[in-house]
Amino acid sequence: MTARILDGTKIRDEIFAELKEEIAALAEQGLRPGLAAVLVGENPASQLYVKSKIAACEQLGLASWLHTPPAGVTTEWMLELVGDLNRDDNVDGILIQLPLPAQVDAKRVLEAVSPAKDVDGFHPVNMGMLVSNRPGLVACTPAGCMEILRRNGISLEGANAVVLGRSDIVGKPMALLLLHANATVTVCHSKSRDLPEIVRRADILVAAIGRPGFVQADWIKPAAAGKTGAAVIDVGTNKVTDASEAGRLLANFPARLEKFAAKGNALVGDVHPDAVNTAGALTPVPGGVGPMTITMLMSNTVKAAKLRRAAGLSGEGRSKPAATAR
Ligand code: NAP
Repeated sequence: MTARILDGTKIRDEIFAELKEEIAALAEQGLRPGLAAVLVGENPASQLYVKSKIAACEQLGLASWLHTPPAGVTTEWMLELVGDLNRDDNVDGILIQLPLPAQVDAKRVLEAVSPAKDVDGFHPVNMGMLVSNRPGLVACTPAGCMEILRRNGISLEGANAVVLGRSDIVGKPMALLLLHANATVTVCHSKSRDLPEIVRRADILVAAIGRPGFVQADWIKPAAAGKTGAAVIDVGTNKVTDASEAGRLLANFPARLEKFAAKGNALVGDVHPDAVNTAGALTPVPGGVGPMTITMLMSNTVKAAKLRRAAGLSGEGRSKPAATAR
């Protein structure tokens, strides 16, 4: 049996269409939400990510600004920039693209971002809001996973949900979101025992560990006696470059193996691709969770603009014209 494919690209398009309408309605009230992105140095992967985030803003009609300090920037300089962006009333969301260079104290910089503009949802204040299930800005990847589940009508109440991984940006917020949706949640990590047995009990499985094809197809609860198989959300995005590893993972996918031979790499999730034959529903890699992360960043920027105004926060006092790149 083949799993129902949970298509992230389709959901991104749906949410983009909704956001466009919302942004047009805000424009009628004279409000144009804006995102300021900070990209330090010239890391090609980071450049690519930031470029797609700015392109998404442009596509939706959000304002955006790009700040590109050089790789040798200091923590103090970054704190000053963040302070300026916190005070700028035109800026609703601040995105500090990670990783930052080693000499910059990333934690200090991230914690300097005003929680009201923390569209990545990494600030301890927003984490606290999530713990207590209060409105705030939620980390984009887990928020995107929840949209995939919700928009595919996957029932969470009373379900056994297993989250593999306990990072601050994926595993922990994911577990909290599932808990608030009334699932019974188990969180696993590198010290967890009997993983296959725990995973076998999952109605919902979220895998976020960064190990290509780690979760085996026969760990996943299959459909049985009128019940659907587990819904699997594969957050992992692992670039496989080793031919024998690709051969092991993609043996049953000749078209993907051919692509690997031509390109020299393949993107594989944390769940073995063969799980498509056991799971009830599954996010593909690529094209599942991946497109949702930028989507939720856009959604958070609009949400931040609305929450900030509802709370009467006007960028901590000083208002100045649209930030220009420094
Ligand atoms: P991370 O910070 O490296 O955390 C990995 C987590 O997995 C840790 O909690 C670790 O346990 C656990 N883990 C590692 N090996 C394990 C094993 N053998 N068994 C059980 N647990 C194990 O990673 P992350 O930032 O959460 O990201 C996870 C994956 O998601 C990566 O592949 C990343 O590229 C991907 N990702 C994708 C998107 C997207 O947009 N699609 C966004 C973010 C992340 P310990 O805590 O015990 O070390």
